[in-house]
Amino acid sequence: MKIAVASGKGGTGKTTVSANLSAVTGIKLYDFDVEEPNAKIFFKGNEKSRDVYRPVPEVKENCTLCGVCREVCQYNAIVVLKDSIMIFHEICHSCGACVYLCPEKAMDEVKRKIGEIIDVYKNGKCILTYGKMDIGEVSPVPIIKEMKKDMEKNAIIDCPPGASCPMVESVKTADFVVLVAEPTPFSFHDLKIAANVVKELKKPFGVVINKYGLPYNIEERCKKENYEIIGKIPFDRKFAEKYSKGELIKDKEMFGEIYDRILEIL
Ligand code: SF4
Ligand code: SF4
Repeated sequence: MKIAVASGKGGTGKTTVSANLSAVTGIKLYDFDVEEPNAKIFFKGNEKSRDVYRPVPEVKENCTLCGVCREVCQYNAIVVLKDSIMIFHEICHSCGACVYLCPEKAMDEVKRKIGEIIDVYKNGKCILTYGKMDIGEVSPVPIIKEMKKDMEKNAIIDCPPGASCPMVESVKTADFVVLVAEPTPFSFHDLKIAANVVKELKKPFGVVINKYGLPYNIEERCKKENYEIIGKIPFDRKFAEKYSKGELIKDKEMFGEIYDRILEIL
């Protein structure tokens, strides 16, 4: 079973929930938030990394500067000048259309390094896999796809924040989605966007309220939207202190109940 932990808004406690769920259940954690992986602060150990590449086009000498590749590129990654051609690999999305449609077969695909996948081991066991995107790259999706290739059967996924392609790519693989929100109007607004995406993907989901106890009544609003609340993490200074020191909350009762509720729903 794969459980994805997502949130519309960043900074709502997504990593706190995913890391603690992993620690309490013993299920391996995958940090798909490759633009800012921070689950590693909770899971320290020996690291082994491997590079991730994606294909990008390169022009050969027989290019006639016909401009077909520029026309087919939906991402404006190709500029054809009077006597040369420029390809901006940073914004190329590796769709392959230009290589396929070049009438002169004047393009090759070459590998471009875009990041790394790192496995963290403790006592010989891999406890965390996280991705790290190189600076200047535009899309984390190829790294997430690569990480998905050799995932264990049971996994907890710390998703990228937001509700766009990286979050969708992460959630797609899950059997259940935990949406983390905090009691603020901004967080509730983004929770609704994320919930709509998850509904569209036809995934069962539940809401965990972090910093529960703040005055905004998010509980009532969730009820109105028919969102099931599967857990509440109290607004407590000691949790913030633990986070700042890279320590897990490791409350077996609190996170065990969230996990049990997920099992009941599935
Ligand atoms: S489509 Fe091929 S031949 Fe035409 S400009 Fe692009 S690379 Fe050159
Ligand atoms: S591979 Fe796709 S995105 Fe990249 S330059 Fe070619 S057409 Fe554009």
